[in-house]
Amino acid sequence: MSKERVLITGAAGFLGSHLCDKFIQAGYHVIGMDNLVTGDMKNIEHLMKLEHFEFYHHDVSKYVHVPGELKYILHFASPASPIDYLKIPIQTLKVSSLGTHNILGLARVKKARVLVASTSEVYGDPAVHPQPEEYWGNVNPVGPRGCYDEAKRFMEAITMAYQNVHHLETRIVRIFNTYGPRMRLNDGRVLPAFIGQALRGEDLTMFGDGSQTRSFCYVSDLVEGIYRLLLSDYTLPVNIGNPSEITIKEFGEEILKLTGAKQKLISLPLPADDPKQRRPDITKAKEILGWEPKVNRSEGLKITYEYFKSLPKEELFKTEHRQFS
Ligand code: UDP
Repeated sequence: MSKERVLITGAAGFLGSHLCDKFIQAGYHVIGMDNLVTGDMKNIEHLMKLEHFEFYHHDVSKYVHVPGELKYILHFASPASPIDYLKIPIQTLKVSSLGTHNILGLARVKKARVLVASTSEVYGDPAVHPQPEEYWGNVNPVGPRGCYDEAKRFMEAITMAYQNVHHLETRIVRIFNTYGPRMRLNDGRVLPAFIGQALRGEDLTMFGDGSQTRSFCYVSDLVEGIYRLLLSDYTLPVNIGNPSEITIKEFGEEILKLTGAKQKLISLPLPADDPKQRRPDITKAKEILGWEPKVNRSEGLKITYEYFKSLPKEELFKTEHRQFS
């Protein structure tokens, strides 16, 4: 019997590559698509030799053609770290607007169910804490994060429109801060930044006084939540994240302890519109999907640290950000 076929956009990225692994393990034929602007073929190298994995080097902001049937589409293509989307704001806007439009059109033709990757950034700098799905958010459209936040809000809106007008089967996941192996060491996010600095013997760059909070979810928990949401009947957005909240200062101290680094935390200016607090309300995920995170931060950080330590030395010292064309 032939396997059911799944298209995953952003396949060479951090989350996309873990999703490819999950769907291969679950017995699907996986088609990965990526334009490799922020993704890296190293993340899916191990899949390339498999009979049931195919890779298309393509930008989903342009017309998407995939021959054959598709059962599911997971739309994960997008820069996702503040450093990346500040460098390429127009591509960031395009991939979640034009790209999502293309993906929804493809899903219609294929009669496929589509899950789109939204984000806790739709809540902006939240005035409600923790954030339930009903909260509409507090986003600055013209600030540095506007290109990402508004593109993702548009993504949700057009996905709902396709559901309502064309009766497309759609799912929307709102992803909170996630970490694990295959994060890019130089993507500017706090976890690779801190671990990279600890390994290089540099001080850890805490932005502001470090009193802002985040809630970090280990990647295997996130992937399981997404898988369950895709297979569920629930069509409104669902938060997936770990509600264990920590200040960035405490997080830096945890990294120093974990790595045994003797350096200190130094304070740099807080970037504009940096959310002061973030923590998912996961009541819906618990009730509808029977899902909650299983990997606690100390366990997850240990695995992630081992991954970063195992990278070749030259990777570790390649601190310049990738040049985008
Ligand atoms: N941050 C920091 N030092 C760094 C990078 C980030 O203190 O070198 C802070 C950042 O200001 C934010 C938090 O860590 O408050 C999480 O930042 P990240 O870029 O990982 O993701 P965000 O949740 O802001 O999208």
